[in-house]
Amino acid sequence: MLRAMSEVNVKAGIECILKRIEEAYARRPAEHVKMAKPLLVAVSKTKPVEMIIESYTAGQRHFGENYVQELVEKAQHPDILQHCPEIKWHFIGHLQNNKINKILKLPNLYMIQTVDSEKLATGLDSAWGKIHGDNKTPLSVLVQVNTSGEEAKNGVQPSETPALFKYIHNNLKNLKLEGLMTIGAFGFDYTSGPNPDFISLMNVHRLIFEENALEPHAVQVSMGMSDDFEKAIEAGSTIVRVGSAIFGFRPKKTA
Ligand SMILES: *Cc1c(COP(=O)(O)O)cnc(C)c1O
Repeated sequence: MLRAMSEVNVKAGIECILKRIEEAYARRPAEHVKMAKPLLVAVSKTKPVEMIIESYTAGQRHFGENYVQELVEKAQHPDILQHCPEIKWHFIGHLQNNKINKILKLPNLYMIQTVDSEKLATGLDSAWGKIHGDNKTPLSVLVQVNTSGEEAKNGVQPSETPALFKYIHNNLKNLKLEGLMTIGAFGFDYTSGPNPDFISLMNVHRLIFEENALEPHAVQVSMGMSDDFEKAIEAGSTIVRVGSAIFGFRPKKTA
């Protein structure tokens, strides 16, 4: 089993993606130069702990998971705790209020990328306060935006995003609101022009940094996955979430 898994060369995969990130960043048009160089979040969902350790050994620090139970198991796994002391976990899946405590108690939790309601934000804020008291550094979060308008997708509508952003930014002191995230429609055909999800998120980004008198680079933008992270970077992305291009094909989860 383990032999078969390690046929994917994770180290080479990470190096290749980092190089492609650099190149896409160099191609980014001048109007976006104020945005930060993108951070690679390696999406390790459904992949074994061994592969995470292999990536960590190759220098990767930021990892994304989108199933609560899987993150709970991996973040507390003895091998991860021993070999990956500085790992930074990003939760990138849908989070229900009744699962907040499970996630927030995990070691090395770095960011929740999927805040899409006042209720969830308030729940995270009060839970973080209870767990860590007032002296703890705030929990980093992103607001998830449903840029594609698909019913099945989570996220707040673009038109409602500035209000949610402002609410969190002004009221929830245990949260450090770092920016915006979108998943976007799958399989966009780039021969038909630029990706409307990326344009939509960058428009919301602009509205938000102007309205809140923030520097553009102070509002992160998480967009781009294996198939389109270079396009996303050219459009202004500062966080890309790449899974299968590093870890190999991922069978669809049925449960
Ligand atoms: C699975 C997942 C990714 C990574 O997808 P790949 O196509 O394998 O790169 C990125 N973001 C989210 C929210 C995901 O669930």
